[in-house]
Amino acid sequence: MKTEFDFIVIGTGLAGLTSALVLKEKGSVLLISKSYLTDCATNLAQGGIAAVVTKEDNFSSHIKDTLAAGAYHNDRNAVKFLVEKAPSAIFWLEDQGVKFEKKDGLFNPTKEAAHSCNRVLHITDFTGREIEKSLILNAKLNKKIHMMENSFVLDLLVRKKRCYGIQIFINNKIINLFSRATVLATGGTGQLYKWTTNPGIATGDGLGMAYRAGLKFKDIEFIQFHPTALKHGRSPLFLLSEALRGEGAYIVNEKGERFVSKIDPRGEMAPRDIVARAIYNMSKESRVFLDIRHKGKRFLKNRFPNIYKELLNRGLDLSSDLIPISAAAHYTCGGIEVDLSGRTKIANLFAFGEVSRTGVHGANRLASNSLLEAVVFPRKMVGCIADLPARIETIGFPLPLYSDKIIPIPDIKPKLQELMWEKVGIIRRKKELQDALEQINQWEKQVNIENTINQELAELKNMLTVSKLIVGAALKRKGSLGAHFIEPLGRKQE
Ligand SMILES: Cc1cc2nc3c(=O)[nH]c(=O)nc-3n(C[C@H](O)[C@H](O)[C@H](O)COP(=O)(O)OP(=O)(O)OC[C@H]3O[C@@H](n4cnc5c(N)ncnc54)[C@H](O)[C@@H]3O)c2cc1C
Repeated sequence: MKTEFDFIVIGTGLAGLTSALVLKEKGSVLLISKSYLTDCATNLAQGGIAAVVTKEDNFSSHIKDTLAAGAYHNDRNAVKFLVEKAPSAIFWLEDQGVKFEKKDGLFNPTKEAAHSCNRVLHITDFTGREIEKSLILNAKLNKKIHMMENSFVLDLLVRKKRCYGIQIFINNKIINLFSRATVLATGGTGQLYKWTTNPGIATGDGLGMAYRAGLKFKDIEFIQFHPTALKHGRSPLFLLSEALRGEGAYIVNEKGERFVSKIDPRGEMAPRDIVARAIYNMSKESRVFLDIRHKGKRFLKNRFPNIYKELLNRGLDLSSDLIPISAAAHYTCGGIEVDLSGRTKIANLFAFGEVSRTGVHGANRLASNSLLEAVVFPRKMVGCIADLPARIETIGFPLPLYSDKIIPIPDIKPKLQELMWEKVGIIRRKKELQDALEQINQWEKQVNIENTINQELAELKNMLTVSKLIVGAALKRKGSLGAHFIEPLGRKQE
């Protein structure tokens, strides 16, 4: 097989697909997914993508909302860049064939929590799926883009702060592939938690690779928990989009009481961290439900066809039933520190989408800004091509041993997910964070004795590395901020 490409892009979510479609103008692209192409967070996105596209809205309002949601921990330049480039990113997606909902030929955005205006563009309630469909089709039609599914990237080839390509499992073998530039677009870390909305691929591999390559992360302690995942069955939990609350859904306890407005005057439309904590606390004494029955069957079936159908499949009717909900790990606000062009601190290595930390989300992401981030930033990468090596450089990198025999891993993965949920979750305590760190260190010792590797073990090692980094960052932060909530001293602290 061919082992040299101008560009290697790891990930077939929105960040990876945008990167590949932009880079194809400048050379050959290898686009890789560790599972099937649409097995990614992007494909699950329901609500939509934020952009200022109506006369009633303006950039300063979108900037203000983004900063407020992020607890003013955001990088203001990055936020300004994101918001101002949003309309052109939407037009680019339209050029790719994405058909956002319109009324009389004009965009018809909806509202989501913590947005002060209707600015979330959507395609009913399966926006991500439609975006993936259009972009994958375009990528498949282009001869410059080579796609590889079910191929697990193990590591980056890095020497002296310079990236030369990747190390990958192919047909039960490990091989080195070389490039002029490599893009990490590997998504988030939701699978570190017992309850998550994230797909199985979200094990933090990109962060694991970047850490081994010597990169540092920023804001990794800020894990956003979505308030309204369907409490039914096993993880990943089906998401009940924020747009439901945008359209008037209530959150109620067993007595039918709305309780979020007792904590925040914005009630159900308060930022996610506030609503998630309110639900988490209430769930200790009562079951919690989403109630949108008052909107009527006709409206709900038209506006939320996917959610309506998915709930019916699980025996629940959105128009006549209370829907049981739970908070769940949803979004990694921090990650690999990058500049506005996605450049990392390693030459020829870029990061985009959820794996990156551009500074736009601060301590908590504003709903529907993440799809936007995944399309705005990769489009700027073309400006860096002139700085890349003119030719692909191939140098020797030793290959680890592959073993397809089952490596005995004690059931660390579910235990880790439980630990992260209980001790590094929605409400954190210093002593519990310390206990978690100690436990993870012990597990790391158990898995690091192997000198052979396979995908299962590589994933587990990444999960342990990233969990440890999240706990470490959480322990370093003094006090609560945004999605990181530490119970004040004196309340259940030791
Ligand atoms: C249920 C759900 C609903 C959401 N709704 C919205 C919404 O309405 N609006 C919004 O803005 N955001 C939403 N989000 C967040 C948003 O979808 C994600 O942040 C965004 O899609 C991330 O895109 P990405 O390209 O960075 O990663 P992903 O789309 O997750 O893609 C990651 C890719 O990396 C690949 N990969 C990972 N590790 C490896 C490896 N080791 N080797 C090879 N390939 C690898 C995977 O196979 C996959 O192709 C939602 C998230 C979820 C989970």
